[in-house]
Amino acid sequence: MAKLIIRCYNVGMKLLMHTCCAPCSVYCIDSLRAEGVEPTVFWYNPNIHPYMEYKARRDCLKDYCKKIEVESIFIEEYGLDEFCRNVVSDIPGRCVNYCYKKRLTECVRYAAKNGYDAFTTTLLVSPYQKHEELVKACEELSALSGIEFLYRDFRVGFRDGQAKAREMGMYMQKYCGCIFSEEERYKKQIEKDLKNSDVVVGCGVSGF
Ligand code: SF4
Repeated sequence: MAKLIIRCYNVGMKLLMHTCCAPCSVYCIDSLRAEGVEPTVFWYNPNIHPYMEYKARRDCLKDYCKKIEVESIFIEEYGLDEFCRNVVSDIPGRCVNYCYKKRLTECVRYAAKNGYDAFTTTLLVSPYQKHEELVKACEELSALSGIEFLYRDFRVGFRDGQAKAREMGMYMQKYCGCIFSEEERYKKQIEKDLKNSDVVVGCGVSGF
């Protein structure tokens, strides 16, 4: 009964959903549609590097949006230099202090300009994100802008969404997005490779 009331309340809501990639969007879109909410996908991710990775994720999402006929907006910005400049003095805090805010601010700005009732983000589906800090950033932006933050703990559907994405043959990324997350993803591999390597590092070959 309570669930039915929630569904009725949100039906017809104009929702802008910041979207990090196609695989993460699968469960978010499915569950919102099941509630009667039709989201507009909003791509703005200058945190994804290098460029071929950015392109692969963006193009996969474009194809998926067409396939499932969901409205979508793609704001193009590839920002390796700017991203690195802004996080270099605080690499451990980069997600909370820069990356979430940068992307969500753009989403909320667009929502406010274009008459959306609410916003949300597919980042809420990932158990690898800092969920509580993410929610806090969304709530702060909501308070500043007056645009409602539609919170859903999409994490319950993360595994199912990823499995469905794999079945559909989507491009599945191996790391969160920035070059620092790529290094973290391969940390053990890097350590192992360096340990086993017979290449002498820093031998000071003249001319290099
Ligand atoms: S790890 Fe992911 S969320 Fe954190 S700064 Fe890098 S791209 Fe952004």
